[in-house]
Amino acid sequence: MLGELTSEQAMPGNPNRWTALLAVLAISAAAATAAGPAARPDAPTSQAVLDRRLDLYNGTFRDILFVQLPGGEDWLESGRAFEELLGGDDATNLDYEHPPDLREDLLTASVHRVLFMLRHNASSSALFRVGEASAATRTHVCVITLDPQGVAQDDVHSTAHLLGLSPELLAEIPPEMRLDRLDFLRFLVDHEVFHCIDAHYLGPVPMSDREHWGRYMLYCNENGADAYAAAMHLAEHGERTRFLRNVTRIRALCLFNADPEHATCRAIRAVERLDDQALTGLTPRELLAVADRIRDHVVPDYGRYLGYRASACRVMQDIGIAVPAADEGLCHAAEPDPAVYRELMESFRKSHAELFGQIPEPQAREPE
Ligand SMILES: [Zn+2]
Repeated sequence: MLGELTSEQAMPGNPNRWTALLAVLAISAAAATAAGPAARPDAPTSQAVLDRRLDLYNGTFRDILFVQLPGGEDWLESGRAFEELLGGDDATNLDYEHPPDLREDLLTASVHRVLFMLRHNASSSALFRVGEASAATRTHVCVITLDPQGVAQDDVHSTAHLLGLSPELLAEIPPEMRLDRLDFLRFLVDHEVFHCIDAHYLGPVPMSDREHWGRYMLYCNENGADAYAAAMHLAEHGERTRFLRNVTRIRALCLFNADPEHATCRAIRAVERLDDQALTGLTPRELLAVADRIRDHVVPDYGRYLGYRASACRVMQDIGIAVPAADEGLCHAAEPDPAVYRELMESFRKSHAELFGQIPEPQAREPE
C-alpha cells in the first residue's frame, strides 16, 4: 500500500501544506515499515479496554470526538484518517492560545507533531476544531496517538513506557512493583484525554513572552494529567491501590529519563490523600475540576519552577544522568533550592532502593 502512493494522492485538487508533509513522510517511511511485526496475542484485550475507555469519554463530553489512531506500521493510514477528520486548512488547533494570524502556522506545527508521534509510535493527544470538510460527526476532535498492544503487551512494557531503562534493568524490578498493563493502559488514556478536556473546558496553554514558559506549562499540565488519571483510577477502585503506589514510585525516577517535567508524585499523592469517599461517584467532568485544583496546589509559580528546575538539574548531575544540551539555559535560569534538591534526591533514592534493592550514592554534595 505504501508503495502505491502517487503524486496525485499526495497533492490532491485542494492541496495544503500538511497533506504535502504527509506525502514526504510516507515516502521515507516505506522502507522502514515494509516488514511490520506480527499481531500480538493480547491485541483484542488491550484494544477492547481502550475502546471502552473512549466510549466512556465520547458518551460524556458530547462536543468532542475522541479518536485513537495507531502508529508504527499503521502510521500512514492513521495519518490519512487524521487528515479526513481535520477536514482541511480551516481547522484550528486548540491546545495553545494564539493570535488569529498564527492559526495556520500552529495548525501546520501541530499536524506535524501528530504525524511525528504516529510515525514513532509515541503516546500523545491534541485537540482541534475541525474544518468544513471534516469527516468527524462533532465540532471538535481529540486525536490520541497510542499503541495499546505495544503499551500493554505485558507489565514490563507498561513500566518501560514511563521509565526508559534497558530491558536488563527493567527485568530487575520485582514483578509486584511493575505497572499492571491494563490499569496502566486506562491510566494512559485518561492522562491523554485530560490534555484535551483541560484545553477545551479550562483553557489552552496561555501565551507568554517568558523564556521557559513552554516547559513550565508542560510541568503544570503533566501534573494535572497525572492527578486526573489517578483520580479516575481511585474513583473506580474506591481505595488506594498498589498500582498508584507503583506509578508514584516510577514517576519519582523520571530524572533517569532527564525529564523533570514528569515529576508528578506530589500530584498523585495529593489525590491519594483525599478522603476515600471523596471521589466515589464523581463524573469525569467533576474529576477534571478536582485535578485542576490539585495542579494549582502542587505546582509552584513560574519563578519557583525555575528554582525547582535548577535543583532537578543538579540532582541529575549528581546521580550521573546527562542533562540534555538544550536544557542548559533552563538549568541555569535560577539557583538550585537546597530544600527542593533534598526532597528530589531523597524521593529518587528511596524509589531506586525499593525498585532495585540498593541506594545510589550521590556523586556530589547538595547545594549550599
Ligand atoms: Zn502528558
